[in-house]
Amino acid sequence: MLGANDGIVSTAAIIVGVASADSTRAAILTAGTAGLVAGAASMAAGEYVSVSSQADAERADLAVEQRELRSDPEGEQQELAAIYLKRGLSSRLAEEVAAELSARPDLLQVHARDELGMTELSHARPLQAAGASAASFTVGAALPLIAVILAPASARIAVTMAATTVALAVTGWAGARMGGAPPARGTIRVVVWGIAAMLLTMAVGRVVGTAV
Ligand SMILES: [Zn+2]
Repeated sequence: MLGANDGIVSTAAIIVGVASADSTRAAILTAGTAGLVAGAASMAAGEYVSVSSQADAERADLAVEQRELRSDPEGEQQELAAIYLKRGLSSRLAEEVAAELSARPDLLQVHARDELGMTELSHARPLQAAGASAASFTVGAALPLIAVILAPASARIAVTMAATTVALAVTGWAGARMGGAPPARGTIRVVVWGIAAMLLTMAVGRVVGTAV
């Protein structure tokens, strides 16, 4: 959802900015398409890097844990017992649970889950994350591009801004709903920032377009 929003706002702002500089249809579409590709690529790269370093950190934590399990199994079992004690078990039961889990073949998983707080779900998948954020950016960026392609030449800016405002209202509302926040406030926030971005590039387009 966040990626889609970025795609809508940045591509719409590029289109409105270039169109404000009295550009041809070809120039507007080239700039908009380049903005889509550049944005999707940078979203993917950023996501890949951040999720990869998260995965590296998880791997390093697991390696340390594995080493400790090999060098000090007793101490590790005590560590588990202390964790269960803190979670509210009696010391007798905590010892028992720790002993039984410590006999399991997937002991590393037990430590990963109960000590490091890693779940199967939290396992970082960099390529998947990169693909997902590039895809959602692309879907968002396609909306203002389609709007400007379909718009008559005389109303390019107005149609793009109107379509963008509607698209942002929909994503803002859906995003707030999914996050359990009051939809109206989230929607207004998203729409206001989107319109501000378009007005800014529109001003830039006018100034640079006449100066150059
Ligand atoms: Zn441990």
